Amino acid sequence: MNILVANLGSTSFKFRLFRFDGADHASLLAKGGYERVTDYGKAIDDCLGELQAAGHVRSAADLHGVGFKTVLGRDLTGCVPADEKVIAALDGFREIAPAHNPPYALGIQRFREKLPGVPLVALFETAFYQWVPEASSRYAVPQTWYDAGVRRYGFHGASHKFAAERSAELLGRADVVQRVQQLYQSGPTPLAAGAKALRVISCHLGGSSSVTGIRDGVAIGTSMGLSPQSGLPQNNRVGDLDSAAVPFVMKTLGLSLAEAERQMTKESGLLGLSGVGNDLRDVRAAAQQGNARAQLALDVFVQSTRHWIGAFLVELGGCDALVFTAGIGENNPDLRAAICANLSDLGLVLDAAKNNAVRGTEGEISAATSRVKVFVIPANEELVVARETVRCITAKY
Ligand code: ADP
Repeated sequence: MNILVANLGSTSFKFRLFRFDGADHASLLAKGGYERVTDYGKAIDDCLGELQAAGHVRSAADLHGVGFKTVLGRDLTGCVPADEKVIAALDGFREIAPAHNPPYALGIQRFREKLPGVPLVALFETAFYQWVPEASSRYAVPQTWYDAGVRRYGFHGASHKFAAERSAELLGRADVVQRVQQLYQSGPTPLAAGAKALRVISCHLGGSSSVTGIRDGVAIGTSMGLSPQSGLPQNNRVGDLDSAAVPFVMKTLGLSLAEAERQMTKESGLLGLSGVGNDLRDVRAAAQQGNARAQLALDVFVQSTRHWIGAFLVELGGCDALVFTAGIGENNPDLRAAICANLSDLGLVLDAAKNNAVRGTEGEISAATSRVKVFVIPANEELVVARETVRCITAKY
């Protein structure tokens, strides 16, 4: 089965082609992309042309599915055929995800026109949070706001679901692995009577970051809320903020709503705190040279991550595995050490040598004495999209 994963930005089109032998055994055949895209239809033609020239597909008939990592849809989530309902759901929330929803709505439309016989699948980033209890997803806003869609949705679902599946595999919990794999087709299936609970806290720390609590492979809550502008401080986005701050700066600094919004989404986060940049490597380099604001940005990031880990430790009633994933989580032993500092009373102790040795690869970094296993699990979101696309096609088409 040849599965194309299309990553659509407002002016970019990136793709990966996977070949599946069986549901989970995939090899990456090709990857590529185009910048400054003005016409997705042409980008699709160019992509197919490249894949034909490389001998991977002879025509669209050799393409068995296309997967899209859609972000947020109004009244729609899950892993579903990318049809007109998906396009309408993306359009319905274009205000909340203005950088992501319009390109995906348009891109899916073009794929439907260009490849009419090929199954298209949308994997929403919110899909993993379908079973979060209402008490954890509601904000204390008037009913009219809730009816308009104001609630916690959660993001990075593909990444956290992969962390749930892979950590269960590493812990030898085939029952939970199977539950995670079937989640979007069957919902949470019952585990065998008496099966021990598996409590995982997954930290996706990258250009944008979130922490998710997972019980038996199913998310019970996450740090991100209505939009990806929430939760931990992001690269240049604010993360959690008291709602009173917005009217306050509008009144006292004379900012328009649009300007306040721009500053919260472009000049905040690690960039706003450090004044140095939005890439953690630059912030860390500045901190190492004695830049106090850069050090503070790192400290805030660590503190916020610990805050959310603490929240899920309590909600889960303990933790069996803590997972680090994405660019920051995979590559920064010093940050992982700071996040895990002084938790021995809670049964979590890192092995300093193992932690230092794991950069960008999978590995266990907890001490032999640690009750909580700590894993680094590299994110592979395109592969997750491809796998879920295969599962959806097999089940639905
Ligand atoms: P995105 O959300 O854009 O996909 P990534 O998961 O690639 O982001 O994470 C980007 C972040 O990861 C940046 O802040 C970057 O500093 C950090 N990062 C990526 N690679 C490394 C590395 N080799 N060493 C240290 N930090 C890294």
